[in-house]
Amino acid sequence: MEFCPDCKSIMVPVEGMMVCRKCGKKIKQTKSDSLVSRTEQIRRQITVIEEEEAAGLPTTRARCPECGNNVAYWWLRQLRSADESEVRFFRCTKCNCTWREYD
Ligand SMILES: [Zn+2]
Ligand SMILES: [Zn+2]
Repeated sequence: MEFCPDCKSIMVPVEGMMVCRKCGKKIKQTKSDSLVSRTEQIRRQITVIEEEEAAGLPTTRARCPECGNNVAYWWLRQLRSADESEVRFFRCTKCNCTWREYD
């Protein structure tokens, strides 16, 4: 909850700004996350881990669809809504291609 620095009224988010309902004062919204949809956040998380160094991730036996290598790093990611099961992602230790596990 944001409060107006001038009149202490509750401010509401309007087009990325926090706007005072009483005096109309506008300030830049501090909680930028509230503008981003959950799907977008998750998509970013996946992108982040794909760009990260895979070092530290556990490895498992999985066949790479690209080069046929049998060892891959893996991690879990929840997709879309919370009621969907977690999806396992793999990344080949050899060619670095990334794929997800399908049931
Ligand atoms: Zn105000
Ligand atoms: Zn590979």
